[in-house]
Order: sequence, then C-alpha cells, then structure tokens
Amino acid sequence: MPSPVIDLRSDTVTKPSAAMRRAMHDAEVGDDVYREDPTVNRLQDRAAEIFGCEAGLYVVSGTMGNQTAIKVLTRHGQEVICEERCHIYNFEMAMVAVFSGVLPRTIRAADGILTWPMIAPYIRARNDHRARTGLIELENTSNLAGGSVYPLEIANDIVDRAHAAGLPVHLDGARIFNASVALGRSVAELTKKFDSVMFCLSKGLGAPVGSLLVGSKEFIEEARIVRKMLGGGMRQAGVLAAAGFVALEEGPPRLHIDHANAKFLAQGLAEIPGIKVDPSKVASNILFFDVSGTGLAAQEISKRLAARGVLANASDPQTIRMVTHLDVDRRGCERALRVLREVVT
Ligand SMILES: *Cc1c(COP(=O)(O)O)cnc(C)c1O
Repeated sequence: MPSPVIDLRSDTVTKPSAAMRRAMHDAEVGDDVYREDPTVNRLQDRAAEIFGCEAGLYVVSGTMGNQTAIKVLTRHGQEVICEERCHIYNFEMAMVAVFSGVLPRTIRAADGILTWPMIAPYIRARNDHRARTGLIELENTSNLAGGSVYPLEIANDIVDRAHAAGLPVHLDGARIFNASVALGRSVAELTKKFDSVMFCLSKGLGAPVGSLLVGSKEFIEEARIVRKMLGGGMRQAGVLAAAGFVALEEGPPRLHIDHANAKFLAQGLAEIPGIKVDPSKVASNILFFDVSGTGLAAQEISKRLAARGVLANASDPQTIRMVTHLDVDRRGCERALRVLREVVT
C-alpha cells in the first residue's frame, strides 16, 4: 500500500474529524442573517466568552474577518501601519486598498515583531501634506516571519501607546491559539487590550471553514453590516459553525503537539547538509529553511518531494516553508526528513 501523502504546505489542509462531521449532521439551524441560527449564535457567544469580549461574529474566512475589521476601524485615505510581511498586505488581494481605501505603511521588523519605537516615527496626525494614520495592525503568530510570537509586554505596550495617540489596534490572530500555547497564557490575556481580534477556526484548530471576529458589542454590530457588504451574510450556516464549535473546544489542547513536531522537523533539517535553519527560532507550528547550500532551487526540491509524497511549498527561490498540523504525526515528520535527505543528497 502506498504511504499517505505528508502535507506540510499549510495547517489549512486539515480535514474535518468524525466528531465535526457528526456535529454538522446534528446541527440545529436557522437564518443567520435574521440572527436565528442557534448554532452560529452559540459559536459566537462561546468565542466571546473565551476571549473575554462582549461579542463575536462568524465570518467565512480570515481574510473576510481582517478586511471587515479594517473597514470598520478606518476611513478612506488613511494609513494602516503593519509589518512588511503581514498577511493583510501580502495575501489579501490588495483589499485594504480596494475596499477600505487605505494605504499600508509597512515596517520591516526582525522576526515580524514590531515594537513601539519602530512604529512611533510613522504615526501622523492631521497634516496638510501627508495621510493620517488610522490604524495599527499586528499579526500573532506571524505567518511569513516564521510563526514567531509577540511577547505579551511588547504587544501590550504597542496597544497602550496607540490608544494614548487615539489609534485603534487590530490583531490578525489567525493563529492566536498557537501563540497562547507557546506563551502559556490564555488568548483572553493575550488579546484583551486590542480593539478587534480575528482568529481562524480553519487552521490549526482543524475546522473545515470559518473564522471569528471578537470585540465590543458596538464593533461587532458595525462588523455585521460590513460582513453583509462583502457577501458574508450566510443563512443556515450552523452546519458549518457546528464543526467550528468542535474545533474551538478540541483544537487548542492539542496544538503543543504541532509545536513539538515543528521543532523536531527543524532539528532534523539542521542536520541535513546544505540546509540552514535555526531550530531555536521555531516558536510555534511554522518553519522556514534555506536550501541554497544544496545547489538546488527551492522549487526543484519542492517538486522532488512531491513526487515522493511529501508536500512543502517554496516561498522564494532559496526557501521552503513547512507547517505542522493535526493531520501530520511524528512518524510523518520522520518520513518527511528521510525523503528530504534523499532528495538533496
Ligand atoms: C491564513 C491567514 C489569514 C486568513 O486566511 P483565509 O485563508 O482568508 O482564512 C489571515 N492572517 C494570517 C496570518 C493567516 O495565516
């Protein structure tokens, strides 16, 4: 029998568990645009409770959640300060410009972690020449900076000082539960100062579809309107939310396994000739490694891996990304390392 494919391209590839499928089958539903879907309501209430917020809103995707929040919190012609490698700037189809009419003011930060001293010089108040700052956006964990985690004091300091300057702060917390596991602190503690938080059910938590926005009642009421503008007013969405509920309860307690597997992969990769990676930098479930010492292009290695049943994407000509998740176990990681060694030597 051929061994199953080891898919390390992303934690979005997970398939719904038997428990999720049962919950979907049994879900009570109603029209959610009328706020009458009991399963969606239960998911939103539970998310708000976990994050210590007043309200939650179920959205189709993380992109919809982020873009909804940015629309609510900004006005056309303003700037949004964000890290250069962040998702809202690189992977959301220029929607900050298309939909909210705002200009990303990007800052490059080591490991994707901004600090207030980096941000402060870019904050602009009313001025006759330059666009005004409207919002600061942070990403935790960072995706393209290698799954790095914001130290709580640094994030809190940014939000406190932003608020003192009259600016809201949105958190792209697609993987905030990974940050929570890495830091040993609750998501409520990590996010309590932010004006809005988006997190994904469909990544490490394992749901097939969906993300949530959480925040104040007032923010969520505005976000409902923007979600509808984006075509995100779903009807009997409880069949999806039911799987999300299972993900929210059962996903977080097992994320430490993904982190240990990512560390294991990094340590194994570091021993392969021609591959450069610093295992001490692997803080969650994402790792990037440099393959330039192998004499092969990252794309070529990715192709050779795929032919042997291991999937991992090149992120640039020298770099490959791997992401661990609930559908890849330790044995899968061992096999991925074996195959990679064969492919490059
Ligand atoms: C995946 C991701 C999102 C949202 O992606 P969708 O595919 O739209 O759900 C947002 N931010 C980060 C950092 C992500 O990794």
